[in-house]
Amino acid sequence: AKAQGRNSFQFYDPEMQKQALDRAQLYTDLRAAIADRQFEVYYQAQVNAAKEVIGAEALVRWNHPQRGLLSPAYFIQFAEETGLIGQIGMLVLEKACLEIKKLEKLGYSLPVAVNISANHILQEDFVDSVANLTKSMAIEPHMLKLEITESAMIQDTETVVQRMRALISMGFRFSLDDFGTGYSSLSYLKLFPIHEIKLDMRFVQDMLQSKEDAAIAELVFSLAKVLKLEVIAEGVSEVSQYDFLRELGCERFQGYLFSKPVARRDFEALVVQGSRH
Ligand code: C2E
Ligand code: CA
Ligand code: CA
Ligand code: CA
Repeated sequence: AKAQGRNSFQFYDPEMQKQALDRAQLYTDLRAAIADRQFEVYYQAQVNAAKEVIGAEALVRWNHPQRGLLSPAYFIQFAEETGLIGQIGMLVLEKACLEIKKLEKLGYSLPVAVNISANHILQEDFVDSVANLTKSMAIEPHMLKLEITESAMIQDTETVVQRMRALISMGFRFSLDDFGTGYSSLSYLKLFPIHEIKLDMRFVQDMLQSKEDAAIAELVFSLAKVLKLEVIAEGVSEVSQYDFLRELGCERFQGYLFSKPVARRDFEALVVQGSRH
């Protein structure tokens, strides 16, 4: 048949058909993955200026039965678009809480940061689910840091802020991820009740080559001081970056220079070994 317009072309486009099929397949696979709990959480150390571990960021991986360990780049955005992110987010939070418990048993009190998508925050039962989870596991709320991005906040600012406040009043803490990459970072600082800024790795990695990036990084530290916010630099992968950040007054770091994200047993070993030095 002769195509009559854009829509009919799309219908007959084999690439589009294939894409639609892939999405349907991914949806089926992801739902099965949630039911079978095929997710693993890796932990990346966060360190202080003395390079001692002071916490971790939880980073999800999908342990696919055929394809092996899949990076979040492969499925997080899709999970956000389809609403499955809430269930994945709760699985990650649950594992993070178990890890907090495990570390406590080993004698370490280390907060764990968990990435939270806007679509998850905006789900009706978000606040109750998080509160119930920590309560049922006897986790102190301040041991969980909820990482949200600027883009997360564009959707329904009022609801997001309201839910953040509800959780903060229970003791949870918030971190603003990828800081500096959005269009209106500064106004978000005023609008959102956060405790910590994560200086995006783009600045950290370009700081030494680019005067502009160095100036922005410097500004973030002065601003944080005035606003009484913590700053953690992410993506620190070279000693020169660490040294430069130290000069700017940075006291918290995350990046390959200290540790890659690792499976929970390896993280536990890292914590125990590190404290024996
Ligand atoms: P993000 O939250 O900005 O996490 C930091 C990413 O940078 C991680 O990638 C980490 O492995 C990587 N990274 C850490 N240090 C370095 C470094 O020194 N150099 C370089 N080049 N990279 C470094 P990962 O684990 O692949 O996660 C990618 C993104 O997926 C995360 O970015 C986050 O946006 C999302 N994500 C991961 N886990 C979750 C989750 O449980 N829930 C949600 N909603 N999103 C998640
Ligand atoms: Ca993050
Ligand atoms: Ca980040
Ligand atoms: Ca990111």
